[in-house]
Amino acid sequence: RSLPVDPSEDCAPRAVPGACFARVRPTPLRNPRLVAMSAPALALLGLEAGGPEAEREAEAALYFSGNRLLPGSEPAAHCYCGHQFGSFAGQLGDGAAIYLGEVRGPRGARWELQLKGAGITPFSRQADGRKVLRSSIREFLCSEAMFHLGIPTTRAGTCVTSDSEVVRDIFYDGNPKKERCTVVLRIASTFIRFGSFEIFKPPDEYTGRKGPSVNRNDIRIQMLDYVIGTFYPEIQEAHADNSIQRNAAFFKEITKRTARLVAEWQCVGFCHGVLNTDNMSIVGLTIDYGPFGFMDRYDPEHICNGSDNTGRYAYNKQPEICKWNLGKLAEALVPELPLEISELILEEEYDAEFEKHYLQKMRKKLGLIQLELEEDSKLVSELLETMHLTGGDFTNIFYLLSSFSVDTDPSRLEDFLEKLISQCASVEELRVAFKPQMDPRQLSMMLMLAQSNPQLFALIGTKANINKELERIEQFSKLQQLTAADLLSRNKRHWTEWLEKYRVRLHKELESISDVDAWNTERVKVMNSNNPKYILRNYIAQNAIEAAENGDFSEVRLLLNSCVGLHGCTKEEEASATAAACAQATRSRLS
Ligand code: AMP
Ligand code: MG
Ligand code: MG
Repeated sequence: RSLPVDPSEDCAPRAVPGACFARVRPTPLRNPRLVAMSAPALALLGLEAGGPEAEREAEAALYFSGNRLLPGSEPAAHCYCGHQFGSFAGQLGDGAAIYLGEVRGPRGARWELQLKGAGITPFSRQADGRKVLRSSIREFLCSEAMFHLGIPTTRAGTCVTSDSEVVRDIFYDGNPKKERCTVVLRIASTFIRFGSFEIFKPPDEYTGRKGPSVNRNDIRIQMLDYVIGTFYPEIQEAHADNSIQRNAAFFKEITKRTARLVAEWQCVGFCHGVLNTDNMSIVGLTIDYGPFGFMDRYDPEHICNGSDNTGRYAYNKQPEICKWNLGKLAEALVPELPLEISELILEEEYDAEFEKHYLQKMRKKLGLIQLELEEDSKLVSELLETMHLTGGDFTNIFYLLSSFSVDTDPSRLEDFLEKLISQCASVEELRVAFKPQMDPRQLSMMLMLAQSNPQLFALIGTKANINKELERIEQFSKLQQLTAADLLSRNKRHWTEWLEKYRVRLHKELESISDVDAWNTERVKVMNSNNPKYILRNYIAQNAIEAAENGDFSEVRLLLNSCVGLHGCTKEEEASATAAACAQATRSRLS
């Protein structure tokens, strides 16, 4: 079917009774121009940099703003549902991203192209289908940063801004601020999510807008066949004659991939921020970079999303939330996969896969390459506890550990301790971190009353929460009396204790090897390729955003280059101008 010439015709909100997508065209932007492009991402599509730079940039801006369609492109918007913050929200996406089509890359892989922020679609509800410069830069940079950290993710090819404007809810001088419409070219094998299957729920389970009203069961089966046949071909082949077995094998695989993905996030201190079921990829990628954040100082309860009042998506909740999301996917796959089967798979596979992958990764981060001991898990949790108590910087402390030598003599240990402690928080910062949420007197009174009244006990919160609050009060009162000098010796004590355990553990490795030098070289190599030197800290992205808002895209481009070199940064890379700029930024933050 040919598309209407006027985009407003095919974008008008409407029902799509027998489908879960609608053909739609991007709405053109005024004066589109390139903010940045990721050469490695575009190379996936066979797009190589060539010709004069200005022409190349203008062409990228023309096509990847959505102003001109690529030859053969048949754009569409995919409509999906989701559980948002724990409740089923009905039909909610995709009002902001437009699928352009698929490209077979030079290596034979098939890639789906999508423009995020290319204007309204029939699913945009009351919103405008646009994205602004700041959110687009964050998504663009973090997609590429995650990929180069070796973490499964959707990719970003370009970021294109324009003179078209929208109003968002940031105010200065009491006036609404106009922001530039910006589009990100996203690339992935598929953008299908858990929520893509939730759209086929029976209408009586809906509270919000409903999914397709006819053929819902047929489309669900088609979509499942498509997903398994296209993205899990080995599973399709192995179980071609038994669909329940096939679907069970698929569910097992996505369960394991998701568990491994979250383990990867935990190991770099990444918080996604909006782990709704519509932001969970059906192939196990990190998808949708919104209020995400990498942790600076380690805090297990770190929340990066300002509107997450209950901490549902806090750092330490991510593993259980993703498991919960898989439970929702399981529900959406009934009757193609009976719940008794999927629930068993989830129970048997998820936690085990997460623990296994997490511990394997943490062993690499600590350079434990020779032995796998049961006690390692305790060593990791004690390290994290030490970081928490001292307000240690998650990334920098892991990075530093590769320079800890097994046979450090006491004087050298002192130097190393000093470096570690330079990555820890001041008394003031710690006081903020451990500030109790409840007045201690209030809490003790409530606890006293609660002893004789279980209902009240339940009201105050779970036992675990109360214990956490009590711990926090204790920490806070200790910190009240602490001077900077006290803090220094306290931090030294904590870190010396942990380092001693670490040293003992490293010595166990030594007992089982003959060539100590080779072991040490390998250990440092493994550590350096598993502990990022730089991560995309919020304030670093923010600096680049502010420059871009003033028309200077050089910071974004600089950061992109640093992102590409994030993983196991070498000495040469360190010496390069871009990485040095990043290091400078890190240092200025820490000072
Ligand atoms: P998110 O919370 O970012 O996962 O967004 C959920 C859904 O809200 C998306 O799939 C979109 O359909 C919709 N949405 C987000 N931003 C916009 C926008 N600017 N215009 C229209 N729809 C939007
Ligand atoms: Mg989303
Ligand atoms: Mg989003």
